Order: sequence, then structure tokens, then C-alpha cells
Amino acid sequence: MSKEINLVWFRNDLRVGDNPALFYAAEQGTVIGIYLEAVQQRKSHDDAACKIGFINDTVKELRKQLNQLNIPLHSFKVSDYAESVEKLEQLAKQFNAKGIYFNNEYPLNEANRDKLAEKRLVEKGFEVKRFDGDIIIPPNSVSTGQGEPYKVFTPYKKAWIAFHKTQGTSPLLLPEKQDLKIDKQNDFDFAQDYRDDLWPAGEQAAQEKLKEFLPKAGYYKERRDIPAIKGTSMLSPYLAVGAISAKQCISSLLEWHDGDEEAFYKDTWLSEIIWREFYRQIIIDNPDISKHKVFKSDAKEVWNGEQELFNLWSQGKTGFPLIDAAMRQLLQTGWMHNRLRMNVAMFLNKLCLIDWRQGEAFFMRHLIDGDFASNNGGWQWCSSTGADGAPYFRIMSPITQSQRFDPEGKFIRKLIPELESLSDKDIHFPSREQREKLGYPQPIIDYKEARKRALELLS
Ligand SMILES: Cc1cc2nc3c(=O)[nH]c(=O)nc-3n(C[C@H](O)[C@H](O)[C@H](O)COP(=O)(O)OP(=O)(O)OC[C@H]3O[C@@H](n4cnc5c(N)ncnc54)[C@H](O)[C@@H]3O)c2cc1C
Repeated sequence: MSKEINLVWFRNDLRVGDNPALFYAAEQGTVIGIYLEAVQQRKSHDDAACKIGFINDTVKELRKQLNQLNIPLHSFKVSDYAESVEKLEQLAKQFNAKGIYFNNEYPLNEANRDKLAEKRLVEKGFEVKRFDGDIIIPPNSVSTGQGEPYKVFTPYKKAWIAFHKTQGTSPLLLPEKQDLKIDKQNDFDFAQDYRDDLWPAGEQAAQEKLKEFLPKAGYYKERRDIPAIKGTSMLSPYLAVGAISAKQCISSLLEWHDGDEEAFYKDTWLSEIIWREFYRQIIIDNPDISKHKVFKSDAKEVWNGEQELFNLWSQGKTGFPLIDAAMRQLLQTGWMHNRLRMNVAMFLNKLCLIDWRQGEAFFMRHLIDGDFASNNGGWQWCSSTGADGAPYFRIMSPITQSQRFDPEGKFIRKLIPELESLSDKDIHFPSREQREKLGYPQPIIDYKEARKRALELLS
């Protein structure tokens, strides 16, 4: 009797390891992989050209990995999610598939697409099997004593850890090699405009980055805030497209701790991965966030800053060296250090009084790791409108942050070479004369005044 055929629909889970949809489909019979690139949808979601290029190459790497298991991957361009669903139905018929397997995505448009796909395919007589591969503990696994979703990170993290202790920590293995001869596979190419020297695409590259990072995990707590050194994993682009799973990351971390659970659960890097889980759960519980709503309905929205401030911020021409260096890092590499993301977000929102949503969209248009849940969570945290956001009076000073986290100006010098000759003291905020001489802009705001105004408006 011939084996049943199932389609695996890859989306932001571009890997063969620890991929529940792929693993369980392969247990049932023959697998055919499908990838659908919804071109217009990406535009409407502000996805960055560098992220699209990175995805393009990650899909190609995925095909190589799948082909080693004799699994074909057919990729197609479609316009939007509605067309994705139509195409999927057509392919399911064409391949005479029994079922379609996929891993859930949580932002609203994706969740609606998946509901529609499930409904349509089931109506046509196909089986639909859905899994959670982008999150470590399944959605809605934890809730407060009152049965409500968590809104504050620390108790969420405590509950997350308690739940995780009851779960297996091992990622899923690779599916077995199948008995299938691969013919022609449908393929396409789109832009490849990204820094592949920094982020070589694919699952193997992601695993290598993880291996490179783990020996440094012991210093993460001390080094993660210093932008001049490589103190963080830089795995975010891979996690965003699913070239590696969060579960794979933390299972390797536990191994690095030699299985010592006490040390593992106290690990600061684990905590950051739990922030990622927290923001995913937040968008699941609050679908309106995907419609650009603030999390806190009583948040003060006082964003009446001049657009010119936004324009200068977005070009890295604010006259505040740390902010400008950070924005140049984003424009040049498609990535920005977390400490700097917080600084530039608070600068734009609280000091320039520009709506955080403008910054959020700008980040998405430029980040290689653009991820709706984490980006929205980060922006709402900084603007004090979000779940467990910073208190309204927390406004990072771009000058003292620079002195504290880039004391010798190493990061600034690298990104703003015109300031290279300044002393370690002056580089954080050059004088009027120094700026004129070096061709560096004058500050676009008076920090003390702007801070005072923000506190008055937000209190
Ligand atoms: C305004 C703002 C916007 C952000 N936008 C994004 C975004 O679009 N995509 C994105 O992946 N992260 C975003 N972050 C979170 C964080 O800045 C990045 O995940 C981190 O800088 C990525 O670098 P890394 O991989 O070296 O992280 P590491 O420090 O090595 O952390 C490991 C992983 O944990 C997760 N993580 C770390 N910090 C956070 C956090 N604060 N929130 C959620 N997840 C976290 C990421 O997946 C990261 O790759 C944003 C933060 C802020 C303040």
C-alpha cells in the first residue's frame, strides 16, 4: 500500500530540527514541503528588505537540508494571505495530500490566515494538523491565581519556570530520511539585500552562532549592555525566521550548565528568551495590539513632536553621538544592540514626543530580526504604554547612558568616524565648536528641557 502524503507548510519555522509540523508529518508518511512568499503582505507589514533577503537565502538553505532527507521543498510567490490559502488548497489537490501540517504564528493577520486555511482545507476534506514551534511553553499554559493572563513579566517568568520544570526540555530530532526521489522543485528568487557576512543564512549557520555564543554565556550578564563588544548571541535574526528554535537555544544552555537546573533557571540569557515568550503571549491575549493599539488603555498619548525630529532621528543626525551611532548601526547592518534600542526608542518617544508607532514601523522597515511581538513589546515598554512597561518617569539620558555603557567611546568612534579625534570625555557630547569643526550636527533638542517637558506631560 502506498504511504499517505502530507504537505508541511513552512513559514517562520525555516528549519528541519525541532520542527513539530515536519517531525509529526514525517511520522505519518511522505512529506512534501511548501513555502509561500506573500509579497504584498510583506509590504503591508513593513518587513525590511534585509529581512526579506535573509529569508530568501534561509529558504534555499532549508531546501538543501530537506533534500538531504529526500524531502522536496516547493516555493511560490503569492500576493497576500488570501492567495496563500488558495494556493495551498490547489497544491494539496495537486499532490493528492491527505493532510496539511504547520506550526502556528501568533500575530493577528497570521492567526486569521491560519484559521481561514484550516476551515477551507477541512471543508475540502483535508486533515489539518497544527503545532506550536515558535514558543517553548504552549500558549495559555500559565495564568494568574485568578485565571487571568499575566500582564507583568516577573510573575509570568516565575510561572513559566514552574511550568517548564514539568515539561521535557529536549528539542525534537530530525525526521527520518524518506524513500522518495526528488524531481524538479519549484523555486524563485527575491531581493538578497542583507549583510550575509554578519548573518550567513540557514540552520547550520544559526547552530554555529549558538555554539560560538555559549562559551560566553557565563559573561552575558556583565557584558550584554556594552555595545562595543560582542556580548550577546546575535541570534535574533535566526530566531525571527525560525532557522533555530528558542527550545533548541535553551536546551543547549542547559547542557552548557551541565544539566544544573538551579543555575539554568537563574541564567540571565534564559530570562531574555522568556521575555520573547512573554511578548508572544501578550499578543495572543490582546489581539488589538496587532491593530496598533496601546496595551494600557489609560496611557497618556502626548505625541505632538515635529516630524523633522523624526526625520533627523531616522538618519542618525540628532547630534547625540550614542543615538546617532545606534541609528547608523541599524542602517548599516540591519541590527541594533538591545541597550541602544531602548535608548533610541525613549529618545524618539519621550524626548522628541514622536508617536512610538512611527519608531516601531521604522524599526520593522530596517531590522533583519524584525519580529512583531518583540518589536511592539519593546516599543511599548520604552514608551510606558505596554505590558509591564517602564514607569513614565524612566527616561534614559543619551549622555549618561553613553558615559556608562560606552565609556571610552569605542562604539561611537566605530560608527561615527568624524568624532574619532575627540577625547573619551568629550565624545559623549561634543562642544558647539567641536561640532562645527568636525562637521557633526548640533543637538536637535535640549535634553534637560525635553526631559522636563516629558515628565510634565506624562505625569
Ligand atoms: C524598541 C525595541 C525593539 C525591539 N525589536 C525587536 C525585534 O523586532 N525583534 C527581536 O527579535 N527583538 C527585538 N527587541 C528585543 C532585543 O533588542 C533583541 O531581541 C536583541 O537585541 C537581539 O540581540 P541578540 O540576539 O544578541 O539577543 P540576546 O541578548 O543574545 O538574547 C537572546 C534572544 O532572546 C530574545 N530577546 C532578547 N531580549 C529580548 C527582549 N527585550 N524582548 C524580546 N525578546 C528578547 C531574542 O530573541 C534574542 O535573540 C527589541 C527591543 C526594543 C527595546
